[in-house]
Amino acid sequence: MTSSADWFRRAQDVLPGGVNSPVRACRGVGCDPLFTESARGSRMHTVDGQELIDFVLSWGPMILGHCDPEVVEAARRAVERGSSYGAPCPGEVELAEAVRRLMPGMEMMRMVSSGTEATMSALRLARGFTGRDKLIKFDGCYHGHSDAFLASAGSGLATLSIPGTPGVPADVVAHTLIAPYNDLEAVEDLFNRHGREIACVIVEPAAGNMGLVPPEPGFLEGLRALCTRFGALLIFDEVITGFRLSLGGAQARYGVRPDLTTLGKIIGGGFPVGCFGGRREIMEHVAPVGAVYQAGTLSGNPAAMAAGLATLRRLEACDYDALERRTLAFARDLKSVLEEKGLPVQMNHVASIFTLFFTKTPVTDFDTAKTMDTEAYATFFRQMREAGVNLAPSGYECTFTSFAHTEEDFAATLDAARRVRF
Ligand SMILES: *Cc1c(COP(=O)(O)O)cnc(C)c1O
Repeated sequence: MTSSADWFRRAQDVLPGGVNSPVRACRGVGCDPLFTESARGSRMHTVDGQELIDFVLSWGPMILGHCDPEVVEAARRAVERGSSYGAPCPGEVELAEAVRRLMPGMEMMRMVSSGTEATMSALRLARGFTGRDKLIKFDGCYHGHSDAFLASAGSGLATLSIPGTPGVPADVVAHTLIAPYNDLEAVEDLFNRHGREIACVIVEPAAGNMGLVPPEPGFLEGLRALCTRFGALLIFDEVITGFRLSLGGAQARYGVRPDLTTLGKIIGGGFPVGCFGGRREIMEHVAPVGAVYQAGTLSGNPAAMAAGLATLRRLEACDYDALERRTLAFARDLKSVLEEKGLPVQMNHVASIFTLFFTKTPVTDFDTAKTMDTEAYATFFRQMREAGVNLAPSGYECTFTSFAHTEEDFAATLDAARRVRF
């Protein structure tokens, strides 16, 4: 048997860091990654023969659990008819119609292959539609790895941005303005200064990439009002929250309608799918109807469309309220277990997502998230994995539950947490 350690050694010789996406390397929690052999329901199985209760769920997509039989069957039947055509197929129309039924604000949309492509294309469209260059994003929000979004705030309040990684030219992020999450005043200030140059505000309507940080009451409504006042587009990046916060996503849950929405993760049911869409008048600027260019060889891939459609159909029969109640009860229990060990813990929770931040400070934005004790989290992660529980390999991530998680899974996780020593 080839162990995870053996695979990781081979992997590091051919893949930078041994991985195809950096957090998977587990460096932040001071250990090596385990290699997965298979996954089913709430469980993952490693090549070493270990079974793990999974709370990462491929970083969100697997809300039905791994290997949902109907999704697998739909994808299998599609593949047998051909895995890519490069020509229109019925599945693209069916998935788009299903998305619009659940999110009526997405009057028209385009399918792509990742969340990164969705946000990158939505930004180009917003710029093309408005004829403006600047965008506002929030500190700690992640919108994929395209250049314009990889900026971090420079000194001073929400002002000049600097590239967040080598390889991004300063002039590319010169148009990216950054504000603290949940800080409406900072956004208003940016609009007052740059007003008619701002093409769009892009926001995770519940932020999930600095740990879970829900919007404070009035925040999303305030962004909506400012965008309308200044003629900028409001983009909700619902790559995590779409079909997760409710069937209609965050926009249905919070009752705020963006101009454009980006989707990913759940929409592909575990296959590579992203999507951007919104008001018809805006979407008609996308080529070939309009002048804003966007394309993709594998966009609307038939197997991925079939998996996405089967996922949405299954979700329409699922009880989101029940999963939310069970997730909240589980998160509270886990928090109590940790607090009994003397750790300060802040709990943020929405629907089937929560983050327990190891800090005394309530977490409402990236600065407060950064007060967390990452060493304590690393200790927690390593012992939980040893005990058969797969948590995100970073404290700045979400804990996801799925419709496949049982009360036994939660009880076993709490037992494992009780045995952790800090
Ligand atoms: C994951 C994520 C993305 C990027 O999606 P990929 O499929 O990884 O390219 C974009 N936005 C948000 C909010 C995400 O969580």
